[in-house]
Amino acid sequence: MSPSAARRIFTVVFVLLAASQVIPPDRWQIPLKQVQLGAQVLLSSGALFLAVVLARGTQAGARPMLMAMPVQLTLCAVAGTAVQALAVKVPLVPIAFFLAFPFSTFARRFPLFWVPGAMLSSAALGRYLIQADTALLPWAILFWAFSLPLGFRMSRDRATIMSNRAQFERMKSDAREMMGRIRKEGFPEMMDRIRGEEAALAAALEEDDFLQKLLVWGCRAFGARTGVLLVPDRPGYVRMRAAVHRGVRITGDMVPADKGFVHIARQRGGVLCVSDARSARSSLGFYSEDVEVGSFLVKVVYESNWAEDAVGEGRAEKVRCVLYFDSASVGALELDDVTSRRLEEYGGLVSKAMEMAFTLHRVTADLSAKDAISKYARSLTQSLDRVKIAEKALDAVVEALPDCDGAVVLLNDGGLSVAGSRGEAVRELGAEKILRDEPSQIGLLLRRFSELEADAEGGAVRAEVVVGYAKELPSPFFHRREKLGRVVSFAAIPCFIRDQAGKPDLQAVISVVSRSSEAFGREEMEDLRTLAGMMAPALDNARLHSELNELSRIDGLTGLLNRRIFDVILDGKISHVRRGNFQRLAVLMIDGDRFKTINDTYGHKVGDEVLVELGRRLKPMVRKNDAVARYGGEEFAIVLDNAGRKQARDVAEKIRRAIRSAPVKTSAGPIPVTVSLGFSVLEKDEKITRSLIVEQADQALYQAKEKGRDRVVGYHEIAHRPAGDEDTVTMMTLP
Ligand code: GH3
Ligand code: MG
Ligand code: MG
Repeated sequence: MSPSAARRIFTVVFVLLAASQVIPPDRWQIPLKQVQLGAQVLLSSGALFLAVVLARGTQAGARPMLMAMPVQLTLCAVAGTAVQALAVKVPLVPIAFFLAFPFSTFARRFPLFWVPGAMLSSAALGRYLIQADTALLPWAILFWAFSLPLGFRMSRDRATIMSNRAQFERMKSDAREMMGRIRKEGFPEMMDRIRGEEAALAAALEEDDFLQKLLVWGCRAFGARTGVLLVPDRPGYVRMRAAVHRGVRITGDMVPADKGFVHIARQRGGVLCVSDARSARSSLGFYSEDVEVGSFLVKVVYESNWAEDAVGEGRAEKVRCVLYFDSASVGALELDDVTSRRLEEYGGLVSKAMEMAFTLHRVTADLSAKDAISKYARSLTQSLDRVKIAEKALDAVVEALPDCDGAVVLLNDGGLSVAGSRGEAVRELGAEKILRDEPSQIGLLLRRFSELEADAEGGAVRAEVVVGYAKELPSPFFHRREKLGRVVSFAAIPCFIRDQAGKPDLQAVISVVSRSSEAFGREEMEDLRTLAGMMAPALDNARLHSELNELSRIDGLTGLLNRRIFDVILDGKISHVRRGNFQRLAVLMIDGDRFKTINDTYGHKVGDEVLVELGRRLKPMVRKNDAVARYGGEEFAIVLDNAGRKQARDVAEKIRRAIRSAPVKTSAGPIPVTVSLGFSVLEKDEKITRSLIVEQADQALYQAKEKGRDRVVGYHEIAHRPAGDEDTVTMMTLP
């Protein structure tokens, strides 16, 4: 039976039932009365049956059957019939019904309160019409006078309550459904991991592909074919970070964030859903070929979703990531209440996971940076070599800032030298390519630094060069403009100390490049500055040390080696001969002739001038590796590597002639000077100490003086004279 037919039949049956009540039964003859009652029972049961059928059709079992309108009407009619039959002469029955009214309202079965009223009314009306009996009428009027206003108010309240309850029920069923789906699709597992223990989270995030997994869950949750997670890259772009795609191939990398679907989604509060995207096809740029896109869903997740402190710092609008889902079929993705709530929740989840991963990465990176810095601090005590100090600083930089390449450029007496470089980007680095006046990174820093030098406070720090993103990179080092792969950000940090006047003195420049944009944030710069701050005094210290070292080796008047260092060098060379690195060596001793006379005639000052000139003439007479020293007052000594008797004599003669050939120009005019020379040769197999060979050369020198000065004597010439020779005797008595 169709609902409309049931309704029609019900109406007819109901009207007949109501009409049967109008004639009170005592007006009929007995058989007729039986017929009327029989008809009324039949009609009543028919009406009840139809009412139940109708109620079941419209109410779908949501409410009790008794609350349905047709059922209540029928019940009223049946009750009215019963009253007619029973209460003909007894007004107590309607009064009892009337009294039952308050109880029926207290029972909160609102519709029931019409039941006594309807029964009373139909009975009163029937009596009046047929018997002109008005006994029941006042009761009925009294009833309605009381109950109608109350009834109306109650039914209004009931409507509100019912609609609230319906809403509540709907929410509950939505939630149940959502929870069911979430449970089925594995969300709670991830939720627990995200919200649960840090360690468990760390473990989850350390899996490289956790974002991929989240995306797989996302695709399943939204019934999408393709899911893409995009993260902010260089300004105005988002970059594909993870993608899930079934049966289609995805390409693409950078997606503009200031136009296209990301832009539209941002304008619409972060969500965009296109259910009928037939025209869009592959215009989204993800697909390598023409791919059918029926519907797609975009969610922009902002950082403020999770980082509460970000709000108010102007970062509230910062995009953390963009989520994209699509399906091949039209209408598969729709933004209904459930989807938008789940999208919100899912976006929060992804954002939280990314934030956690980022924090984790930060903490690890920070730890390793601090580690690298403290390691560098310890290493500084182990080296006095400027180049090593710079190289170790570079090691620390590369360790502290992963994904970075770099170089350290040293400033030496205004010149530049590259102390070390790491990575592809700086492979070709050479000092000659760093030009102060060229628009290179280091050149820029040097220029800024010299401009800011006057400003002692903070000026040097302002000389830093930091570029977060460069489209085409003016090479940090070269003066040519070059593209260096994906190097996009770079920084140069000055390493300086302050001199006594507080002015900064530039020692070196740390120069770093990175393949990711905005690689040099606040913390990274702080680390670099710390390293630079540690390196600068170490470099200065090393320079001071080497200067002092140099000073301690040198004779102050002539600039030749001093006697102490000559002895050390001679020791070294003798051991070289012993070990066979040299075949032999020769020691030359040179002494100015009658120097006392020069001093006495022209004064000590002029004597010094002569000494300086002697030193100047000696130096070019020997090879670069031969050590030339001022051995005493006006006495000089030379070691000749790999020189035998002949070479030693040749060199000595050359020296003698070079000095006597031209008078020495002094402030007191030109003074002719001559020298006497003695030498001794050490052969490989001879076991002779340093002091012995020096003494032998000295003895030869003494012989040269004895023989009339301005001449050369070799020790071998005097050593093997027969006994009794007066020269030999003299030699033996030398102190
Ligand atoms: P000769 O060597 O030819 O025997 O005579 P000499 O006068 O040079 O004698 P000797 O080498 O023994 O004397 C060294 C003199 O050299 C003593 C001193 O007047 C002079 N002399 C030594 N050291 C210096 C110095 O640093 N400056 C100057 N101006 N004279 C010095
Ligand atoms: Mg002398
Ligand atoms: Mg002397």
